[in-house]
Amino acid sequence: MENDNNRRKFIKNVGMGAAAIGTAGLAGVLSSCKDQQKEKAAVKEEPKAKTIEWKMVTTWPPHFPMLGEGADNLAKWVDEMSGGRLKIKVYGGGELVPPLGVFDAVSQGTAEMGHGAAYYWAGKAPASQFFAAVPFGFNAQSINAWLYSGGGMQLWEELYGKFNLKPFVAGNTGVQMGGWFNKEINTMEDFKGLKMRIPGLGGKVLAKAGGNAVLVAGGEIFTNLERGVIDATEWVGPFHDLKMGFYKAAKYYYSPGWHEPGTALESMVNLDAWNALPDDLKAIVEAATYKSNMWMLSEFEAKNNKALKTLINEHNVQPRQFPESVLKALKKLSIEVLEELAASDPMSRKVYDSFLEFQKNIYEWNKVTEEPYQKLKYL
Ligand code: CA
Repeated sequence: MENDNNRRKFIKNVGMGAAAIGTAGLAGVLSSCKDQQKEKAAVKEEPKAKTIEWKMVTTWPPHFPMLGEGADNLAKWVDEMSGGRLKIKVYGGGELVPPLGVFDAVSQGTAEMGHGAAYYWAGKAPASQFFAAVPFGFNAQSINAWLYSGGGMQLWEELYGKFNLKPFVAGNTGVQMGGWFNKEINTMEDFKGLKMRIPGLGGKVLAKAGGNAVLVAGGEIFTNLERGVIDATEWVGPFHDLKMGFYKAAKYYYSPGWHEPGTALESMVNLDAWNALPDDLKAIVEAATYKSNMWMLSEFEAKNNKALKTLINEHNVQPRQFPESVLKALKKLSIEVLEELAASDPMSRKVYDSFLEFQKNIYEWNKVTEEPYQKLKYL
């Protein structure tokens, strides 16, 4: 019952800065003392460093576990690192602007800062999707390598610069789960007619597979799944999915999340606000986003595995993995979707080319390092 109340509450939240003494006798000493007092007074009166106040709008429900908390932490760390010189007030989605109004609000300067995920802005800047997640794309380690050290960040700055925005990586979910299903997925035929809540590029892949990608607001997913309005849903990973109670409405929990293999979260700053910041505060904001990125990925990795055990051991969830033949077919369709995206807009082509080149190189390196090591883990 308690669990049920917590779940309902969770789902509800989803919906929305010297003196010297002279030696010319007493008079001199006294006069020096006076000077000293004046100097002390002058020190006291020295104006304090100006406090800058920013607003941060987010796509998340207020204080939403890990994602909204990531935004809260980012603001707190900037405050601590700057000794209170840069104060950022965080607004949950809908508190100042609607969740999907974040991009425009920061672009136009309604708020100086935003927090969300770049793929939410596909309708405004299709290439943005590469900076969050693409099906069969980078995991967390590789997207960080591409963005921080492989030229990705410069492309992201080029793209967002057109909208008067400066982007930062500010978190990562790690590999997500493939979703909740009420039937087993054994062949591609099993996707035909399947009504599934799966947004963005993953949804386009599902559509190519003959499925029906449905848009459902976060707060309505559980009810739709329970009532059979949708046959399946993806969400995030075990930690969040457990809170949503999906195990009460679907029994098979599939992995891996081929459609979101390491979703990067973002923070963005209005370029006018950014350019007005002193250099040390710029460095602080940047450092805080790095900390956020590491914090969030670590939280996801540490908490998801525990939640998965709870789902399996306490709620009788049946874990499944998509068969390799299905994943191969989905990958082929994903490449078609990404090629169509690249063909639709010059910036998407440019970003996709960078993505592909980095992917080729990192995969060659992974074959020598990560892959053999993965096998060692289970010896
Ligand atoms: Ca997801």
